[in-house]
Amino acid sequence: MSTTPDSILLPALQQRRAEQRYRHRRTLQTAQTPLQRLDGQQRIAFCSNDYLGLANHPEVIAAFQQAAAIYGVGSGASHLVNGHSAEHQALEEELAAFCGRQRALLFSTGYMANMGVISALVGRGDAVLEDRLNHASLLDGGLLSGARFQRFAHNDVEQLSSRLARTDAQRKLVAVDGVFSMDGDLAPLDQLATCCQAHQAWLMVDDAHGFGCLGERGAGVVEHFGLGVNEVPVLMATLGKAMGTAGAFVAGSETLIETLIQFSRPYIYTTAMPPAVAAATRASLKVLQAEPWRRQHLNALIKHFREGASRYGLALEPSMTAIQPVILGDEARALAVSAALEARGFLVIAIRPPTVPAGSSRLRITLSAAHTVEQVDALLAALVEVLQELPPSE
Ligand SMILES: *Cc1c(COP(=O)(O)O)cnc(C)c1O
Repeated sequence: MSTTPDSILLPALQQRRAEQRYRHRRTLQTAQTPLQRLDGQQRIAFCSNDYLGLANHPEVIAAFQQAAAIYGVGSGASHLVNGHSAEHQALEEELAAFCGRQRALLFSTGYMANMGVISALVGRGDAVLEDRLNHASLLDGGLLSGARFQRFAHNDVEQLSSRLARTDAQRKLVAVDGVFSMDGDLAPLDQLATCCQAHQAWLMVDDAHGFGCLGERGAGVVEHFGLGVNEVPVLMATLGKAMGTAGAFVAGSETLIETLIQFSRPYIYTTAMPPAVAAATRASLKVLQAEPWRRQHLNALIKHFREGASRYGLALEPSMTAIQPVILGDEARALAVSAALEARGFLVIAIRPPTVPAGSSRLRITLSAAHTVEQVDALLAALVEVLQELPPSE
């Protein structure tokens, strides 16, 4: 019998293919805008997380180019060696001020931020409790930490409360997505904060999909609920979505941030993001504040999409955000609808297990301030046509 690595690895790939869960990458030949060319074909994309259209904003591009001319491309070292540039420092100060917190700390990716924060705050003898639908990086961070890891039912504050009441762990960390990435609904942060305070647990929010979009000023889900650092001591958000750049940050007290700098291994042992990315993000943060019409237009498109969908009788999920899933059931059906939309010129990716629970394969439609009302109408019309032509799921 053959025991080469490939012969041992192959059966799992074959099984994945048989389950209709095999994933393919496509090659994008243009910028991340609604009109794009993928694998040589023109498409209107409804699957980007560039919710405000900042990834191609001229001021963001110019800031990136100017900083690259000054600082070069690579940062050359980790933050604690000599990779922490003036652009990183300025961005951290601006993010802290924007979030109304003492300090902010940049991470090179959101995935690393979640691994790094949870493992720096809790370990053996502690407890970490997470919503079942949390993003993979929060779940993986909880597992990496070595703390006792428990999930609670989606947005079920009562279940969380009874689990907290039963734990005798020294430190208790509760971590949730602010906006759930595959469903678009919000965590009930006000109730979660009350529950955590009652049980002396620390609340951490991953606001990857709320930061930039939600709240009066775009400061995210914490601003939407009118909460501060006392209620939500650990705020994490990513920069690769609404901010249109890359990386992530954590904002909180002086003590929290110093703890991360001293003890967070995914912070310490990695190369700092390129200074030009920090400079571009500073420009994004300015545009976010100077162009509130982007948030307003996005909200108008969300409303338009939902009204149109309900006129057509499409089943929508309770989401007020740019993420508007259409749940289709099994993998094959989700793939068929996605393929039929693609044949009509629309790119909407089918999301399947293990990213979402079995039986809830879906189209994850995302809207952006870069879309027009006409594009949203065209998508809706195509979606209705496709669903009518397809046999219903059994
Ligand atoms: C995208 C995402 C992340 C990961 O951020 P990256 O910067 O892409 O690594 C973390 N949490 C949530 C909820 C996300 O959607």
